[in-house]
Amino acid sequence: MAKAHGETNTASAMMPTYARADLAFERGEGAWLITTTGERYLDFVAGVAVMSLGHSHPHLVEAIKTQAEKLCHTSNLFRIPAGERLAKRLTDLTFADMVFFTNSGAEALECAIKTARKYHAASGHPERYRLITFEGAFHGRTLATIAAGGQQKYLEGFGPATPGFDQVPFGDLEAVKAAIGPETAGILFEPVQGEGGLRSLSPADMRELRALCDEHGLLMVLDEVQCGTGRTGKLFAHEWSGITPDIMAIAKGIGGGFPLGACLATAEAGKGMVAGTHGSTYGGNPLAMAAGNAVLDIVANEEFLAHVRQMSLLFRQRLAEMKDRHPAIIEDVRGEGLLTGFKARVPNTDVIAALRGEHLLAVAAGHNVVRFLPPLIISEAEVQMAMRSLDAACSKLEAALTKPAAE
Ligand SMILES: *Cc1c(COP(=O)(O)O)cnc(C)c1O
Repeated sequence: MAKAHGETNTASAMMPTYARADLAFERGEGAWLITTTGERYLDFVAGVAVMSLGHSHPHLVEAIKTQAEKLCHTSNLFRIPAGERLAKRLTDLTFADMVFFTNSGAEALECAIKTARKYHAASGHPERYRLITFEGAFHGRTLATIAAGGQQKYLEGFGPATPGFDQVPFGDLEAVKAAIGPETAGILFEPVQGEGGLRSLSPADMRELRALCDEHGLLMVLDEVQCGTGRTGKLFAHEWSGITPDIMAIAKGIGGGFPLGACLATAEAGKGMVAGTHGSTYGGNPLAMAAGNAVLDIVANEEFLAHVRQMSLLFRQRLAEMKDRHPAIIEDVRGEGLLTGFKARVPNTDVIAALRGEHLLAVAAGHNVVRFLPPLIISEAEVQMAMRSLDAACSKLEAALTKPAAE
């Protein structure tokens, strides 16, 4: 096929897979993004939960600059001391005994899925390769992770779905029990669904799922790509329930803007992942490890996590007030910590556009949810500012609702 001539817009050379807002940013400062024309937006998207420390955090900037001047990449043919250090820190802070570093969330999930399958193969049960997942799940956009997520809109047109995933209704523990069979390897889920619409499993459900795993010799595989790294006010969301998984995928916030993910596993769950079983050219390179260590310096700190909990509480209270003030727009408040938002009564895309008009950035999620993912360093004043923008946007949306449809 011939190229269309005369296309000068640089955006036209990009595969048009995204419905982008017509906004481009040049700089970021903390919770703020500044456009090429100097307009300031309060960033409650944070690169979709990536910018845990906000924009241009001096500690992270310094770590990346210093490392870039010394050494960016060597490959995994050689030892990477900063990676050994980050892995040790992550295992000291969690249930895990070992870590595999990746460049993205989907790759962290791929490693988690492979680790779970390999565990059973190494235990003499290669037939146990299936994972039970929940409806509304989002685990990434690779062929295996779209199959795990099970959402038709992401599977459509990409050939047969990768086998090995059995989906049950969200949080339906009876359905989980019914789905367990001789080929089941484990249960894979997000403690708090992000893209799926901010639904969370209760601590009691988490404990029951853990008990089911123990009873049936299954691995609990958590996807904390979005809800982990401090976002719920604990370092990892599962900590609220007091249980621990066998395998966990993380990414997004752990890099603070540098592409970084990781798959964490207990020694037992990871026993099949011996030399040669998995790999990545970039995964865990010195530059990524400098970023990950710098993020952890800040986030893995009880005072910092207490700040996240405080801001979460304030945000939640103010959102509940907004629901009372604007019942025609806000149906119910959802989510945990700084992974929060509301189900809207008008199209969520209209709400997000109206918020953008008030210079507040938010992102859509399933079930017509408006999702807020502020950087974890957000201040009380910034939460209050965001609520004033939300208040103004809701008032405008209400005014539009009462106008005749022809307008
Ligand atoms: C974003 C996300 C992923 C995929 O991460 P990528 O870095 O986009 O590959 C997986 N799981 C969850 C819960 C996510 O939010």
